Amino acid sequence: MFEIVVEDIFSAAHKLRNYKGKCENVHGHNWKVQVAVYGRDLDNRGLLLDFTVLKAELKKVLQSLDHKDINNLPFFRKINPTSENIAFYVHKKIKNSPAIKPARVKSVTVWESDRQYAIYTEEGS
Ligand SMILES: [Zn+2]
Repeated sequence: MFEIVVEDIFSAAHKLRNYKGKCENVHGHNWKVQVAVYGRDLDNRGLLLDFTVLKAELKKVLQSLDHKDINNLPFFRKINPTSENIAFYVHKKIKNSPAIKPARVKSVTVWESDRQYAIYTEEGS
C-alpha cells in the first residue's frame, strides 16, 4: 500500500458548546491540518496521486474555514467545532472529491496547538 501526506494551515475562531471552561468563550487558533491518502496502485508516472492535486484539494477545504467563526458555518451549527469534528469535516470533504480518485483518505489530523491534536480515521480504512 502506498500513502502520501500533505499539510496546510488555517486561522479561525470558535467556541465550544456544552463545555465548561475557557474554551466556551470565543477564541482563535492557528490550526495545522494533515491529510493522508492511500492506495494500492501507482499510475503510469509512478504516482499514487500528484501532491499538487492533494494540496489544492486541502487548500480548497481549508479556505472554507480560514478567518471564519467556525460556529457560524452550516456544518458546525449543530456539530461542535472541536478539532475532532474539524478533522471529520475535512475528511468528509476530501473523501467526496473526485480529484483524489482512486486514492482514498486514510486519516486527517488537526493540530490546534503544537502539543495537541485530533485524528479522524474512517472505520475500515
Ligand atoms: Zn479552541
